[in-house]
Amino acid sequence: MQLSANGQKVFDARYAGKDENGQINETFPQAVHRLATTASIVEQDQHYWTTKFTDVIGNLLFVPSTPIWANVGKTDRPWQPGACFVLAVEDSLHSMYDVLHQTAMIFKSGGGTGYNFSSIRPKGDLVHSTKGQASGVVELIRLYNASANMVMQGGVRRGASLGILNIDHPEIKDFINAKLNGDLTNFNLSVGVIDAFMDALNQGAAWELKFNGKVYETIAATELWDMLIWAAHACGDPGIIFLDQIQRANPVPGKVMNATNPCGEQPLYPGESCLLGSVNLAKMVKAGAVDWDLLRDTVSLAVKFLDNLIDVAEYPLPLVDQNTKSTRKIGLGFTGLADALIMANLAYDSPEGRSFAGELTRFIQQTAHETSRELAEEKGCFPDWENSIYYPHEKRRNAACITIAPTGSVTAMAGCEGYGVEPIFAVAYTKQTKVAGDFEVFSPLFLEACQRRGVTADVLTEVAQRGTCQGVTGIPRDIQQIFKGAQDIAPRDHIKMQVAVQKNTDNAVSKTINLPNSATVNDIDKSYRLAYQLGLKGITVFRDGCKEGVITVGEGKP
Ligand code: UDP
Repeated sequence: MQLSANGQKVFDARYAGKDENGQINETFPQAVHRLATTASIVEQDQHYWTTKFTDVIGNLLFVPSTPIWANVGKTDRPWQPGACFVLAVEDSLHSMYDVLHQTAMIFKSGGGTGYNFSSIRPKGDLVHSTKGQASGVVELIRLYNASANMVMQGGVRRGASLGILNIDHPEIKDFINAKLNGDLTNFNLSVGVIDAFMDALNQGAAWELKFNGKVYETIAATELWDMLIWAAHACGDPGIIFLDQIQRANPVPGKVMNATNPCGEQPLYPGESCLLGSVNLAKMVKAGAVDWDLLRDTVSLAVKFLDNLIDVAEYPLPLVDQNTKSTRKIGLGFTGLADALIMANLAYDSPEGRSFAGELTRFIQQTAHETSRELAEEKGCFPDWENSIYYPHEKRRNAACITIAPTGSVTAMAGCEGYGVEPIFAVAYTKQTKVAGDFEVFSPLFLEACQRRGVTADVLTEVAQRGTCQGVTGIPRDIQQIFKGAQDIAPRDHIKMQVAVQKNTDNAVSKTINLPNSATVNDIDKSYRLAYQLGLKGITVFRDGCKEGVITVGEGKP
Protein backbone atom coordinates (compact mmCIF):
# COMPACT_ATOMS: atom_id res chain seq x y z
CA MET A 1 0.00 0.00 0.00
CA GLN A 2 2.24 2.76 -1.21
CA LEU A 3 1.97 5.90 -3.27
CA SER A 4 4.47 7.33 -5.72
CA ALA A 5 6.29 10.50 -4.63
CA ASN A 6 3.84 12.62 -6.67
CA GLY A 7 0.87 10.62 -5.47
CA GLN A 8 1.95 11.21 -1.87
CA LYS A 9 2.10 14.96 -2.53
CA VAL A 10 -1.49 14.98 -3.79
CA PHE A 11 -2.61 12.86 -0.87
CA ASP A 12 -0.87 15.05 1.71
CA ALA A 13 -2.12 18.29 0.21
CA ARG A 14 -5.72 17.32 -0.37
CA TYR A 15 -6.88 14.25 1.48
CA ALA A 16 -4.81 13.48 4.57
CA GLY A 17 -6.34 14.24 7.95
CA LYS A 18 -4.79 17.30 9.62
CA ASP A 19 -4.69 18.53 13.20
CA GLU A 20 -5.84 21.95 14.41
CA ASN A 21 -2.57 23.50 13.30
CA GLY A 22 -2.90 22.08 9.81
CA GLN A 23 -0.23 19.43 10.41
CA ILE A 24 -0.79 16.10 8.66
CA ASN A 25 -1.73 13.37 11.10
CA GLU A 26 -2.89 10.63 8.75
CA THR A 27 -0.96 8.26 6.47
CA PHE A 28 -2.30 6.84 3.21
CA PRO A 29 -2.99 3.37 4.73
CA GLN A 30 -4.82 5.06 7.61
CA ALA A 31 -6.99 7.01 5.15
CA VAL A 32 -7.76 3.84 3.22
CA HIS A 33 -8.82 2.23 6.48
CA ARG A 34 -10.97 5.26 7.29
CA LEU A 35 -12.83 4.93 3.99
CA ALA A 36 -13.15 1.15 4.16
CA THR A 37 -14.49 1.06 7.71
CA THR A 38 -16.96 3.89 7.06
CA ALA A 39 -18.35 2.17 3.97
CA SER A 40 -18.75 -1.05 5.98
CA ILE A 41 -20.82 0.46 8.79
CA VAL A 42 -24.03 -0.55 7.03
CA GLU A 43 -22.93 -4.18 6.56
CA GLN A 44 -23.60 -7.06 8.95
CA ASP A 45 -20.12 -8.50 8.50
CA GLN A 46 -18.20 -5.28 8.90
CA HIS A 47 -14.81 -6.93 9.26
CA TYR A 48 -15.15 -8.86 5.99
CA TRP A 49 -16.14 -5.81 3.95
CA THR A 50 -13.54 -3.58 5.57
CA THR A 51 -10.88 -6.03 4.45
CA LYS A 52 -12.30 -6.20 0.91
CA PHE A 53 -12.59 -2.43 0.50
CA THR A 54 -9.15 -1.89 2.01
CA ASP A 55 -7.63 -4.27 -0.49
CA VAL A 56 -9.20 -2.74 -3.57
CA ILE A 57 -8.61 0.91 -2.56
CA GLY A 58 -5.24 0.44 -0.87
CA ASN A 59 -3.81 -1.22 -3.97
CA LEU A 60 -5.16 1.65 -6.08
CA LEU A 61 -7.32 -0.68 -8.17
CA PHE A 62 -10.30 1.51 -7.36
CA VAL A 63 -9.89 5.20 -6.59
CA PRO A 64 -12.79 7.08 -4.98
CA SER A 65 -13.09 10.74 -5.97
CA THR A 66 -11.88 13.79 -4.07
CA PRO A 67 -14.80 14.55 -1.69
CA ILE A 68 -14.79 10.94 -0.49
CA TRP A 69 -11.11 11.09 0.46
CA ALA A 70 -11.41 14.59 1.84
CA ASN A 71 -14.55 14.09 3.96
CA VAL A 72 -15.80 10.59 4.53
CA GLY A 73 -15.07 9.09 7.95
CA LYS A 74 -13.29 12.17 9.27
CA THR A 75 -14.34 13.19 12.75
CA ASP A 76 -14.13 16.92 12.04
CA ARG A 77 -16.11 17.04 8.78
CA PRO A 78 -19.56 16.07 7.53
CA TRP A 79 -19.32 12.85 5.50
CA GLN A 80 -20.24 14.46 2.20
CA PRO A 81 -19.16 12.10 -0.61
CA GLY A 82 -20.68 13.84 -3.69
CA ALA A 83 -18.60 15.59 -6.36
CA CYS A 84 -21.55 16.50 -8.58
CA PHE A 85 -24.60 18.63 -7.86
CA VAL A 86 -27.33 20.35 -9.83
CA LEU A 87 -29.52 23.09 -8.36
CA ALA A 88 -32.65 24.69 -9.79
CA VAL A 89 -32.80 28.49 -9.82
CA GLU A 90 -36.24 30.03 -10.14
CA ASP A 91 -37.20 33.44 -11.43
CA SER A 92 -37.27 35.29 -8.12
CA LEU A 93 -34.73 37.20 -6.08
CA HIS A 94 -35.53 34.91 -3.21
CA SER A 95 -34.64 31.79 -5.18
CA MET A 96 -31.48 33.36 -6.69
CA TYR A 97 -30.01 34.12 -3.27
CA ASP A 98 -31.32 30.94 -1.74
CA VAL A 99 -29.50 28.93 -4.38
CA LEU A 100 -26.38 31.05 -3.93
CA HIS A 101 -26.39 30.09 -0.27
CA GLN A 102 -27.00 26.42 -1.13
CA THR A 103 -24.09 26.60 -3.57
CA ALA A 104 -21.77 27.95 -0.90
CA MET A 105 -22.68 25.00 1.34
CA ILE A 106 -21.99 22.58 -1.51
CA PHE A 107 -18.63 24.17 -2.37
CA LYS A 108 -17.58 24.08 1.24
CA SER A 109 -18.19 20.33 1.27
CA GLY A 110 -16.10 19.75 -1.89
CA GLY A 111 -18.74 19.52 -4.63
CA GLY A 112 -19.26 21.38 -7.90
CA THR A 113 -22.62 22.66 -9.12
CA GLY A 114 -24.44 22.97 -12.42
CA TYR A 115 -27.51 25.12 -13.11
CA ASN A 116 -29.89 25.59 -16.00
CA PHE A 117 -30.73 29.31 -15.89
CA SER A 118 -33.46 29.19 -18.53
CA SER A 119 -36.29 29.97 -16.15
CA ILE A 120 -34.73 33.37 -15.27
CA ARG A 121 -36.43 36.26 -17.08
CA PRO A 122 -34.16 38.02 -19.55
CA LYS A 123 -32.28 41.24 -18.91
CA GLY A 124 -34.46 44.34 -19.21
CA ASP A 125 -37.74 42.56 -18.45
CA LEU A 126 -40.10 44.19 -15.99
CA VAL A 127 -39.77 43.40 -12.31
CA HIS A 128 -43.41 43.63 -11.21
CA SER A 129 -42.89 44.42 -7.54
CA THR A 130 -40.54 47.37 -8.13
CA LYS A 131 -41.38 48.29 -11.73
CA GLY A 132 -37.64 48.18 -12.31
CA GLN A 133 -35.75 46.16 -14.87
CA ALA A 134 -34.51 42.61 -14.38
CA SER A 135 -30.75 42.25 -14.47
CA GLY A 136 -30.96 38.93 -16.27
CA VAL A 137 -29.02 35.71 -16.60
CA VAL A 138 -25.48 36.88 -17.31
CA GLU A 139 -25.53 39.29 -14.38
CA LEU A 140 -26.69 36.47 -12.14
CA ILE A 141 -23.80 34.31 -13.34
CA ARG A 142 -21.44 37.18 -12.48
CA LEU A 143 -22.80 37.18 -8.93
CA TYR A 144 -22.39 33.42 -8.57
CA ASN A 145 -18.92 33.57 -10.08
CA ALA A 146 -17.81 36.18 -7.55
CA SER A 147 -19.18 34.11 -4.72
CA ALA A 148 -17.22 31.07 -5.91
CA ASN A 149 -14.04 33.11 -5.52
CA MET A 150 -14.85 33.53 -1.86
CA VAL A 151 -15.63 29.97 -0.94
CA MET A 152 -12.73 27.61 -1.33
CA GLN A 153 -14.13 24.10 -1.47
CA GLY A 154 -13.39 22.88 2.03
CA GLY A 155 -9.88 24.24 1.59
CA VAL A 156 -9.37 21.61 -1.10
CA ARG A 157 -10.28 23.35 -4.33
CA ARG A 158 -12.10 26.33 -5.76
CA GLY A 159 -15.79 25.99 -6.53
CA ALA A 160 -16.39 24.82 -10.10
CA SER A 161 -19.69 25.67 -11.75
CA LEU A 162 -21.52 25.09 -14.99
CA GLY A 163 -24.10 27.53 -16.28
CA ILE A 164 -26.50 26.30 -18.93
CA LEU A 165 -28.88 28.41 -20.97
CA ASN A 166 -31.30 26.94 -23.49
CA ILE A 167 -30.84 27.96 -27.10
CA ASP A 168 -34.27 29.65 -27.25
CA HIS A 169 -33.79 31.97 -24.27
CA PRO A 170 -33.93 35.68 -25.23
CA GLU A 171 -30.60 36.37 -23.53
CA ILE A 172 -28.77 33.59 -25.34
CA LYS A 173 -26.56 35.92 -27.42
CA ASP A 174 -25.10 37.65 -24.35
CA PHE A 175 -24.68 34.28 -22.72
CA ILE A 176 -22.76 32.91 -25.72
CA ASN A 177 -20.37 35.87 -25.61
CA ALA A 178 -20.11 36.10 -21.82
CA LYS A 179 -16.61 34.63 -21.51
CA LEU A 180 -14.98 36.37 -24.45
CA ASN A 181 -13.41 39.03 -22.23
CA GLY A 182 -11.74 36.46 -19.95
CA ASP A 183 -14.23 36.90 -17.10
CA LEU A 184 -16.22 34.26 -15.25
CA THR A 185 -13.22 32.04 -14.60
CA ASN A 186 -15.10 29.86 -12.10
CA PHE A 187 -17.78 29.02 -14.63
CA ASN A 188 -17.98 26.71 -17.59
CA LEU A 189 -20.80 27.69 -19.90
CA SER A 190 -22.84 25.39 -22.12
CA VAL A 191 -25.75 26.07 -24.41
CA GLY A 192 -28.67 23.68 -24.01
CA VAL A 193 -29.43 22.60 -27.57
CA ILE A 194 -32.53 20.64 -28.58
CA ASP A 195 -33.24 18.53 -31.68
CA ALA A 196 -35.64 21.17 -33.04
CA PHE A 197 -32.81 23.69 -33.19
CA MET A 198 -30.50 21.28 -35.01
CA ASP A 199 -33.32 20.64 -37.49
CA ALA A 200 -33.78 24.39 -37.99
CA LEU A 201 -30.04 24.74 -38.47
CA ASN A 202 -29.89 21.97 -41.04
CA GLN A 203 -32.88 23.39 -42.92
CA GLY A 204 -31.62 26.98 -42.76
CA ALA A 205 -34.82 27.93 -40.93
CA ALA A 206 -35.64 30.80 -38.57
CA TRP A 207 -35.45 30.33 -34.79
CA GLU A 208 -37.51 32.05 -32.10
CA LEU A 209 -36.08 33.38 -28.86
CA LYS A 210 -38.85 33.34 -26.32
CA PHE A 211 -39.70 33.42 -22.65
CA ASN A 212 -42.97 32.40 -20.99
CA GLY A 213 -44.58 31.91 -24.39
CA LYS A 214 -43.70 35.42 -25.63
CA VAL A 215 -41.45 35.70 -28.69
CA TYR A 216 -38.73 38.33 -28.18
CA GLU A 217 -36.82 37.88 -31.41
CA THR A 218 -36.68 35.72 -34.49
CA ILE A 219 -33.22 34.97 -35.79
CA ALA A 220 -31.76 32.65 -38.42
CA ALA A 221 -30.64 29.43 -36.70
CA THR A 222 -27.38 29.65 -38.66
CA GLU A 223 -26.68 33.14 -37.28
CA LEU A 224 -27.01 31.92 -33.71
CA TRP A 225 -24.94 28.84 -34.44
CA ASP A 226 -22.19 30.94 -36.01
CA MET A 227 -22.03 33.12 -32.90
CA LEU A 228 -21.75 30.01 -30.78
CA ILE A 229 -18.92 28.36 -32.70
CA TRP A 230 -17.12 31.68 -33.10
CA ALA A 231 -17.10 32.21 -29.31
CA ALA A 232 -16.05 28.60 -28.68
CA HIS A 233 -13.19 29.09 -31.13
CA ALA A 234 -12.10 32.30 -29.43
CA CYS A 235 -12.23 31.20 -25.79
CA GLY A 236 -13.28 27.53 -25.46
CA ASP A 237 -16.77 28.48 -24.20
CA PRO A 238 -19.58 27.77 -24.60
CA GLY A 239 -19.75 24.03 -24.95
CA ILE A 240 -22.99 22.31 -25.88
CA ILE A 241 -25.33 20.03 -23.98
CA PHE A 242 -27.74 18.07 -26.14
CA LEU A 243 -30.83 18.18 -23.94
CA ASP A 244 -33.02 15.74 -25.90
CA GLN A 245 -30.22 13.20 -25.93
CA ILE A 246 -29.97 13.51 -22.15
CA GLN A 247 -33.74 13.24 -21.81
CA ARG A 248 -33.79 10.05 -23.92
CA ALA A 249 -31.50 8.42 -21.36
CA ASN A 250 -33.40 9.74 -18.34
CA PRO A 251 -33.90 6.80 -15.94
CA VAL A 252 -36.89 8.46 -14.20
CA PRO A 253 -38.61 10.13 -17.18
CA GLY A 254 -41.17 12.01 -15.06
CA LYS A 255 -38.37 14.12 -13.58
CA VAL A 256 -36.76 16.95 -15.52
CA MET A 257 -33.09 16.53 -16.38
CA ASN A 258 -31.86 19.75 -17.97
CA ALA A 259 -28.45 20.28 -16.41
CA THR A 260 -25.23 18.51 -15.54
CA ASN A 261 -22.45 19.01 -12.99
CA PRO A 262 -19.56 21.37 -13.90
CA CYS A 263 -17.52 19.07 -16.12
CA GLY A 264 -20.55 17.68 -17.94
CA GLU A 265 -20.28 14.01 -17.07
CA GLN A 266 -23.24 13.81 -14.74
CA PRO A 267 -26.75 14.85 -15.78
CA LEU A 268 -28.85 15.23 -12.64
CA TYR A 269 -32.29 16.29 -11.46
CA PRO A 270 -32.58 19.63 -9.69
CA GLY A 271 -31.33 19.25 -6.14
CA GLU A 272 -29.71 15.89 -6.82
CA SER A 273 -26.12 14.84 -6.21
CA CYS A 274 -23.87 11.99 -7.31
CA LEU A 275 -20.70 10.49 -5.92
CA LEU A 276 -17.88 9.27 -8.16
CA GLY A 277 -15.13 6.68 -8.24
CA SER A 278 -12.76 5.28 -10.84
CA VAL A 279 -11.35 1.90 -11.72
CA ASN A 280 -7.63 2.23 -12.39
CA LEU A 281 -7.27 0.65 -15.83
CA ALA A 282 -3.47 0.83 -15.67
CA LYS A 283 -3.70 -1.94 -13.05
CA MET A 284 -6.03 -4.08 -15.15
CA VAL A 285 -3.62 -4.89 -17.99
CA LYS A 286 -1.09 -7.64 -17.33
CA ALA A 287 1.45 -8.68 -19.98
CA GLY A 288 -0.52 -6.81 -22.63
CA ALA A 289 -3.90 -8.40 -21.85
CA VAL A 290 -6.84 -7.36 -19.68
CA ASP A 291 -7.28 -9.29 -16.44
CA TRP A 292 -11.06 -9.59 -16.70
CA ASP A 293 -11.50 -11.41 -13.39
CA LEU A 294 -9.68 -8.69 -11.53
CA LEU A 295 -11.73 -6.05 -13.36
CA ARG A 296 -14.99 -7.81 -12.48
CA ASP A 297 -14.11 -8.09 -8.77
CA THR A 298 -12.93 -4.49 -8.66
CA VAL A 299 -16.08 -3.10 -10.28
CA SER A 300 -18.33 -5.15 -8.08
CA LEU A 301 -16.65 -3.94 -4.89
CA ALA A 302 -16.57 -0.37 -6.15
CA VAL A 303 -20.32 -0.37 -6.78
CA LYS A 304 -20.99 -1.72 -3.31
CA PHE A 305 -18.62 0.80 -1.76
CA LEU A 306 -20.24 3.79 -3.49
CA ASP A 307 -23.75 2.52 -2.80
CA ASN A 308 -22.98 2.07 0.91
CA LEU A 309 -21.65 5.61 1.15
CA ILE A 310 -25.04 6.97 0.08
CA ASP A 311 -26.44 5.54 3.30
CA VAL A 312 -23.81 7.04 5.57
CA ALA A 313 -23.60 10.35 3.67
CA GLU A 314 -24.27 13.67 5.36
CA TYR A 315 -25.38 15.89 2.49
CA PRO A 316 -25.15 19.65 2.98
CA LEU A 317 -28.87 20.29 2.35
CA PRO A 318 -32.02 18.30 3.28
CA LEU A 319 -33.33 18.71 -0.28
CA VAL A 320 -30.18 17.15 -1.74
CA ASP A 321 -30.23 14.38 0.83
CA GLN A 322 -33.78 13.44 -0.09
CA ASN A 323 -33.31 13.62 -3.88
CA THR A 324 -30.02 11.76 -3.88
CA LYS A 325 -31.41 8.97 -1.75
CA SER A 326 -34.47 8.65 -4.01
CA THR A 327 -32.41 7.66 -7.05
CA ARG A 328 -29.19 6.44 -5.43
CA LYS A 329 -27.19 7.30 -8.55
CA ILE A 330 -23.54 6.36 -8.47
CA GLY A 331 -20.88 7.38 -11.00
CA LEU A 332 -18.36 4.61 -11.41
CA GLY A 333 -15.91 5.18 -14.23
CA PHE A 334 -12.25 4.75 -14.92
CA THR A 335 -8.94 6.47 -15.19
CA GLY A 336 -5.73 5.46 -16.94
CA LEU A 337 -7.33 4.44 -20.23
CA ALA A 338 -4.29 5.87 -22.04
CA ASP A 339 -1.93 3.78 -19.90
CA ALA A 340 -3.97 0.64 -20.57
CA LEU A 341 -3.95 1.27 -24.32
CA ILE A 342 -0.19 1.76 -24.34
CA MET A 343 0.31 -1.38 -22.25
CA ALA A 344 -1.87 -3.30 -24.71
CA ASN A 345 0.11 -1.78 -27.60
CA LEU A 346 -2.87 -0.02 -29.15
CA ALA A 347 -3.08 3.46 -30.60
CA TYR A 348 -5.62 5.81 -29.01
CA ASP A 349 -6.77 6.98 -32.42
CA SER A 350 -7.13 3.58 -34.08
CA PRO A 351 -10.29 1.50 -34.58
CA GLU A 352 -8.67 -1.21 -32.42
CA GLY A 353 -7.96 1.28 -29.64
CA ARG A 354 -11.55 2.49 -29.69
CA SER A 355 -12.98 -1.01 -29.63
CA PHE A 356 -10.67 -1.88 -26.71
CA ALA A 357 -11.99 1.16 -24.81
CA GLY A 358 -15.57 0.34 -25.81
CA GLU A 359 -15.21 -3.26 -24.70
CA LEU A 360 -13.73 -2.26 -21.33
CA THR A 361 -16.57 0.19 -20.74
CA ARG A 362 -19.18 -2.36 -21.77
CA PHE A 363 -17.75 -4.89 -19.34
CA ILE A 364 -17.61 -2.35 -16.52
CA GLN A 365 -21.20 -1.31 -17.21
CA GLN A 366 -22.47 -4.87 -17.40
CA THR A 367 -20.75 -5.83 -14.15
CA ALA A 368 -21.96 -2.68 -12.39
CA HIS A 369 -25.54 -3.35 -13.48
CA GLU A 370 -25.29 -6.95 -12.31
CA THR A 371 -24.04 -5.81 -8.92
CA SER A 372 -26.77 -3.16 -8.69
CA ARG A 373 -29.39 -5.88 -9.38
CA GLU A 374 -27.88 -8.11 -6.67
CA LEU A 375 -27.86 -5.23 -4.21
CA ALA A 376 -31.52 -4.54 -5.03
CA GLU A 377 -32.36 -8.14 -4.16
CA GLU A 378 -30.45 -7.87 -0.93
CA LYS A 379 -31.28 -4.34 0.23
CA GLY A 380 -34.13 -3.09 -1.94
CA CYS A 381 -34.52 -0.98 -5.09
CA PHE A 382 -33.93 2.78 -5.15
CA PRO A 383 -37.08 4.53 -3.83
CA ASP A 384 -37.95 6.06 -7.23
CA TRP A 385 -37.76 2.64 -8.94
CA GLU A 386 -41.51 2.40 -9.57
CA ASN A 387 -41.33 5.59 -11.64
CA SER A 388 -38.26 4.45 -13.54
CA ILE A 389 -37.59 2.76 -16.86
CA TYR A 390 -36.58 -0.41 -14.99
CA TYR A 391 -40.00 -0.95 -13.44
CA PRO A 392 -41.41 -3.62 -13.18
CA HIS A 393 -39.06 -6.13 -14.78
CA GLU A 394 -35.61 -5.20 -13.61
CA LYS A 395 -34.70 -4.58 -10.02
CA ARG A 396 -31.99 -1.98 -9.50
CA ARG A 397 -30.38 -0.48 -6.45
CA ASN A 398 -29.18 2.56 -8.41
CA ALA A 399 -30.92 4.62 -11.10
CA ALA A 400 -27.56 5.00 -12.91
CA CYS A 401 -24.13 3.50 -12.38
CA ILE A 402 -21.54 4.62 -14.94
CA THR A 403 -19.94 8.06 -15.33
CA ILE A 404 -16.58 8.94 -16.90
CA ALA A 405 -15.18 11.83 -14.84
CA PRO A 406 -12.13 13.99 -15.57
CA THR A 407 -10.36 12.50 -12.50
CA GLY A 408 -8.17 15.60 -12.27
CA SER A 409 -6.79 14.91 -8.80
CA VAL A 410 -7.23 11.22 -8.20
CA THR A 411 -5.31 10.24 -11.33
CA ALA A 412 -2.26 12.08 -10.06
CA MET A 413 -2.59 10.27 -6.75
CA ALA A 414 -2.98 6.89 -8.47
CA GLY A 415 0.08 7.58 -10.63
CA CYS A 416 -1.55 7.08 -14.05
CA GLU A 417 -0.41 9.05 -17.06
CA GLY A 418 -3.76 9.40 -18.78
CA TYR A 419 -6.63 11.18 -16.99
CA GLY A 420 -10.04 9.49 -17.26
CA VAL A 421 -10.72 8.80 -20.93
CA GLU A 422 -8.05 11.24 -22.17
CA PRO A 423 -4.89 10.35 -24.06
CA ILE A 424 -1.58 11.25 -22.44
CA PHE A 425 -1.11 15.02 -22.44
CA ALA A 426 2.23 14.95 -24.31
CA VAL A 427 5.11 12.49 -24.52
CA ALA A 428 7.52 15.19 -23.44
CA TYR A 429 7.87 18.91 -23.08
CA THR A 430 10.42 21.46 -22.01
CA LYS A 431 9.55 22.99 -18.69
CA GLN A 432 10.86 26.49 -18.11
CA THR A 433 11.44 27.47 -14.51
CA LYS A 434 13.00 30.60 -13.05
CA VAL A 435 14.85 28.73 -10.33
CA ALA A 436 16.12 25.56 -12.02
CA GLY A 437 16.22 26.75 -15.63
CA ASP A 438 14.81 24.66 -18.46
CA PHE A 439 14.43 20.93 -18.11
CA GLU A 440 12.79 18.14 -20.03
CA VAL A 441 9.77 16.29 -18.67
CA PHE A 442 9.01 12.91 -20.23
CA SER A 443 6.10 10.54 -20.02
CA PRO A 444 7.56 7.63 -18.01
CA LEU A 445 5.90 5.06 -20.29
CA PHE A 446 7.36 6.77 -23.35
CA LEU A 447 10.81 7.01 -21.83
CA GLU A 448 10.74 3.35 -20.89
CA ALA A 449 9.73 2.32 -24.42
CA CYS A 450 12.48 4.48 -25.93
CA GLN A 451 15.12 3.17 -23.57
CA ARG A 452 14.15 -0.40 -24.42
CA ARG A 453 14.68 0.39 -28.10
CA GLY A 454 17.92 2.27 -27.60
CA VAL A 455 16.70 5.73 -28.62
CA THR A 456 19.54 8.19 -28.06
CA ALA A 457 19.55 11.21 -25.74
CA ASP A 458 19.78 13.80 -28.55
CA VAL A 459 16.69 12.31 -30.22
CA LEU A 460 14.84 12.57 -26.90
CA THR A 461 15.93 16.20 -26.56
CA GLU A 462 14.43 16.92 -29.95
CA VAL A 463 11.18 15.24 -28.87
CA ALA A 464 11.05 17.43 -25.76
CA GLN A 465 11.67 20.57 -27.81
CA ARG A 466 8.94 19.70 -30.28
CA GLY A 467 6.52 18.44 -27.64
CA THR A 468 5.80 15.39 -29.78
CA CYS A 469 7.55 12.32 -31.15
CA GLN A 470 5.56 12.38 -34.37
CA GLY A 471 7.86 12.63 -37.37
CA VAL A 472 11.05 12.68 -35.28
CA THR A 473 13.81 10.72 -37.00
CA GLY A 474 15.22 8.12 -34.64
CA ILE A 475 11.88 7.30 -32.98
CA PRO A 476 10.71 3.87 -34.23
CA ARG A 477 7.49 4.02 -36.24
CA ASP A 478 5.50 1.76 -33.90
CA ILE A 479 6.44 3.97 -30.93
CA GLN A 480 5.22 7.01 -32.87
CA GLN A 481 1.93 5.28 -33.47
CA ILE A 482 1.26 4.34 -29.86
CA PHE A 483 2.61 7.48 -28.17
CA LYS A 484 0.40 10.30 -29.27
CA GLY A 485 -0.32 13.28 -27.03
CA ALA A 486 -3.65 15.11 -26.96
CA GLN A 487 -2.45 17.51 -29.66
CA ASP A 488 -1.26 14.72 -31.98
CA ILE A 489 -4.76 13.27 -32.19
CA ALA A 490 -7.22 14.62 -34.74
CA PRO A 491 -10.37 16.23 -33.27
CA ARG A 492 -12.47 13.67 -35.10
CA ASP A 493 -10.62 10.85 -33.37
CA HIS A 494 -11.07 12.49 -29.97
CA ILE A 495 -14.81 12.58 -30.65
CA LYS A 496 -14.87 8.98 -31.85
CA MET A 497 -13.25 7.85 -28.60
CA GLN A 498 -15.85 9.80 -26.62
CA VAL A 499 -18.57 8.06 -28.65
CA ALA A 500 -17.03 4.59 -28.15
CA VAL A 501 -17.09 5.10 -24.39
CA GLN A 502 -20.42 6.98 -24.19
CA LYS A 503 -22.23 4.00 -25.77
CA ASN A 504 -21.86 2.06 -22.54
CA THR A 505 -21.96 4.92 -20.08
CA ASP A 506 -25.27 5.46 -18.24
CA ASN A 507 -24.48 9.07 -17.46
CA ALA A 508 -21.98 10.97 -19.61
CA VAL A 509 -18.30 11.27 -20.47
CA SER A 510 -16.11 14.22 -19.54
CA LYS A 511 -13.78 14.70 -22.50
CA THR A 512 -11.81 17.55 -23.97
CA ILE A 513 -11.70 17.71 -27.74
CA ASN A 514 -8.26 19.20 -28.33
CA LEU A 515 -7.65 21.38 -31.34
CA PRO A 516 -4.40 22.98 -32.43
CA ASN A 517 -4.07 26.75 -32.11
CA SER A 518 -4.38 26.97 -35.89
CA ALA A 519 -7.84 25.33 -35.89
CA THR A 520 -10.49 27.39 -37.63
CA VAL A 521 -14.07 28.25 -36.70
CA ASN A 522 -15.03 25.73 -39.35
CA ASP A 523 -13.21 22.99 -37.39
CA ILE A 524 -15.33 23.81 -34.32
CA ASP A 525 -18.42 23.77 -36.50
CA LYS A 526 -17.59 20.30 -37.77
CA SER A 527 -16.78 18.99 -34.29
CA TYR A 528 -20.02 20.22 -32.72
CA ARG A 529 -22.14 18.87 -35.58
CA LEU A 530 -20.36 15.52 -35.51
CA ALA A 531 -20.96 15.22 -31.77
CA TYR A 532 -24.68 15.65 -32.38
CA GLN A 533 -24.76 13.21 -35.29
CA LEU A 534 -22.95 10.57 -33.26
CA GLY A 535 -25.37 10.89 -30.37
CA LEU A 536 -23.17 12.46 -27.69
CA LYS A 537 -24.79 14.11 -24.69
CA GLY A 538 -22.45 17.07 -24.84
CA ILE A 539 -19.18 18.40 -26.19
CA THR A 540 -16.48 20.86 -25.17
CA VAL A 541 -13.57 21.86 -27.37
CA PHE A 542 -10.26 23.29 -26.34
CA ARG A 543 -8.11 25.14 -28.85
CA ASP A 544 -4.50 25.18 -27.69
CA GLY A 545 -3.56 28.55 -26.22
CA CYS A 546 -7.05 30.06 -26.33
CA LYS A 547 -7.15 30.34 -22.56
CA GLU A 548 -4.47 32.10 -20.59
CA GLY A 549 -2.46 30.19 -18.04
CA VAL A 550 -3.07 26.75 -19.50
CA ILE A 551 -0.11 24.50 -20.21
CA THR A 552 0.70 24.20 -23.89
CA VAL A 553 3.17 21.83 -25.47
CA GLY A 554 6.07 22.47 -27.79
CA GLU A 555 9.31 24.37 -27.81
CA GLY A 556 9.71 27.27 -25.46
CA LYS A 557 6.34 26.85 -23.81
CA PRO A 558 6.11 25.47 -20.29
N1 UDP B 1 -15.03 19.40 -9.24
C1 UDP B 1 -15.13 20.64 -8.65
N2 UDP B 1 -14.03 21.45 -8.57
C2 UDP B 1 -12.83 21.09 -9.08
C3 UDP B 1 -12.71 19.84 -9.69
C4 UDP B 1 -13.83 19.01 -9.75
O1 UDP B 1 -16.20 21.01 -8.22
O2 UDP B 1 -11.85 21.87 -8.97
C5 UDP B 1 -16.23 18.51 -9.32
C6 UDP B 1 -16.97 18.69 -10.63
O3 UDP B 1 -18.34 18.39 -10.45
C7 UDP B 1 -16.33 17.64 -11.48
C8 UDP B 1 -16.22 16.51 -10.48
O4 UDP B 1 -15.85 17.16 -9.27
O5 UDP B 1 -17.07 17.36 -12.60
C9 UDP B 1 -15.22 15.46 -10.82
O6 UDP B 1 -13.97 16.05 -11.12
P1 UDP B 1 -12.64 15.20 -11.11
O7 UDP B 1 -12.95 13.86 -11.67
O8 UDP B 1 -11.55 15.98 -11.74
O9 UDP B 1 -12.37 15.06 -9.54
P2 UDP B 1 -11.25 14.32 -8.67
O10 UDP B 1 -11.97 13.30 -7.88
O11 UDP B 1 -10.15 13.77 -9.50
O12 UDP B 1 -10.74 15.43 -7.78
